[in-house]
Amino acid sequence: MCGIVGVSGIEHAAELVSLGLYALQHRGQEAAGICAIEAGRARVHKAAGLVAEGFDNAVLRDLPGSTALGHVRYSTAGGLGLENAQPIVVRYHQGDLAVVHNGNITNGMTLREELVAEGALFQSTTDTEVLVHLIARSREPTPEAQLRDALSRLQGAFSVLVTIGSVLYAARDPWGFRPLVLGRRAGGHIIASETCALDLLDAEYVRDIEPGEVLRIEGGRVTRLQDLEPAPRIAPCIFELIYFARPDSKLWGISVDRARRALGRQLAREQPAEGDCVFSVPDSSNSAALGYSEESGIPLELGLIRNHYVGRTFIHPTQVGRDFKVRIKYNPVREVIEGKRVVVVDDSLVRGTTSRGLVSLIRDAGAREVHFRVASPPVRSPCYYGIDMPTREELIGARLSVEAIRDSLGVDSLGYLSLEGMHAAMRSVAESPVSFCDACFSAEYPAPLVDLERGYAVGARC
Ligand code: SF4
Repeated sequence: MCGIVGVSGIEHAAELVSLGLYALQHRGQEAAGICAIEAGRARVHKAAGLVAEGFDNAVLRDLPGSTALGHVRYSTAGGLGLENAQPIVVRYHQGDLAVVHNGNITNGMTLREELVAEGALFQSTTDTEVLVHLIARSREPTPEAQLRDALSRLQGAFSVLVTIGSVLYAARDPWGFRPLVLGRRAGGHIIASETCALDLLDAEYVRDIEPGEVLRIEGGRVTRLQDLEPAPRIAPCIFELIYFARPDSKLWGISVDRARRALGRQLAREQPAEGDCVFSVPDSSNSAALGYSEESGIPLELGLIRNHYVGRTFIHPTQVGRDFKVRIKYNPVREVIEGKRVVVVDDSLVRGTTSRGLVSLIRDAGAREVHFRVASPPVRSPCYYGIDMPTREELIGARLSVEAIRDSLGVDSLGYLSLEGMHAAMRSVAESPVSFCDACFSAEYPAPLVDLERGYAVGARC
């Protein structure tokens, strides 16, 4: 999973992009990159780690221009090195070309094999570089047509920003898996993965980029190019609303906070519990726990405190470190928990290892009973569209029954939200009906899994 921001028609565009990336930092902490364009010339800077670590004033001063795009990177299939950080910037026959991408191209390895056979030289192992080669090798006459030609060969999930010369392009795959929004500020335009980036930049939200839409943005003008071929259905990722996006964002016309509260309320109806207090596994479950508390009437407490200074990727080489993995991130509030029957609300259960550690911490803090409630159905299938998830063998919901999971977590009761309940909750807060992708729960994959079917180890995600 990654976050992307583009700015067109506003001076010091790189600075705005860096600020936008701060708002999207939850979408990726492994690397950040910004490319700025001045008089058609692209300059790029990439750095490992957080935006704040890699982009000080001196770096931003060296990125002049009124067009820029940037990226924060989450996952690393394809390797941890900076060669896989974005933007990818090349010089081709139409000028400087830069690309940032959020999603996972499900025929990326197949296309790569074809391109390598034709003589293409790849510098990274990301699926995104395939798009660069397809644009450069297209036989279409104009940059617009080359871009569209290249995009039309991709399958799977791609929200992309591209600059060719000083022109910014934005596109979303025809299924619309990943979010992408258009905003306006000071006569120019901003495109971002989530609306929280527009808020930070004090930009006005204009609209979502539609599935299959390709926009050309230059000099304060937005032009809609010919759409990509429509998919059999649109399929925005429901997991963005459950877990990944920020609760202050609005995705596909749905407030993330409202969606999570609705999930929590539905969960309370489907999976009631006898408890003295309810609390969340912070932060992504806060809104769901609030909804559970509202519906059940059980008081909401802050039973777990999260340390915000630990990255998502904390890995310790020794067993001692692994034992501390949960403790370094969460600490229970003994005064809230001791002697109580507690209801713990989590947004999802993927491997179950963190939850097992948490339950043990909660028991050590003196809980009389622990009732675990999950505001989504069991995750039974991996995601191939850009959310970083383990293999099927590592998914606890694919391996064990609910009763066996309850036993493995060591809780007094365990309750998941149903698939129907999840969709009902989303319908209750959507402005208009949305046909979501729910493949990690239902195993019904909306877009073809070309590489997987051809036996490639599918992993490159962003
Ligand atoms: Fe989202 Fe799950 Fe679909 Fe992946 S499989 S796009 S995580 S809903």
